[in-house]
Amino acid sequence: MLRFVNYDIVFQEVPGEVTLAINLSNCPFRCKGCHSPYLRENTGNELDEETLSGLLERYGKAITCVCFMGGDATPESVEHLSSFLKNKTDGRIKTGWYSGREALPPQCSARNFDYIKLGAYDERLGGLDSRTTNQRFYRIEDGRMIDATASFLQK
Ligand code: SF4
Repeated sequence: MLRFVNYDIVFQEVPGEVTLAINLSNCPFRCKGCHSPYLRENTGNELDEETLSGLLERYGKAITCVCFMGGDATPESVEHLSSFLKNKTDGRIKTGWYSGREALPPQCSARNFDYIKLGAYDERLGGLDSRTTNQRFYRIEDGRMIDATASFLQK
């Protein structure tokens, strides 16, 4: 089960999109220098199809993308909700996933997302806007993962 702590409309996390970023709790990772330690607790309200539909009703006209921030304890749930959202909106609303994993879990298909960020946060290397970052941001085209990390440096 996925739980979310909060959400916000953001402009930086997915270049070129107005994104409803949903912060998911129960993060299984323990990155040194973690920017959001509160997301390590298993707290918040359940994020399911009904909750997501409610958020879409409220914010759907103002956004172009929904990004799941975390959810690595149950990646199949993130993929399911992303797929649900794509079907529900006929692809009008794009979907993204910010994962702390090094690679996409084998049971997940990139086709169910439009954007995927992979990689744990390493405070020595910095986030996506750092030239030395270990993290990668991908645009998904026909199921292929195209590395678009450089777009964070061009802003
Ligand atoms: S993945 Fe994100 S929330 Fe989880 S420990 Fe690392 S920085 Fe913190």
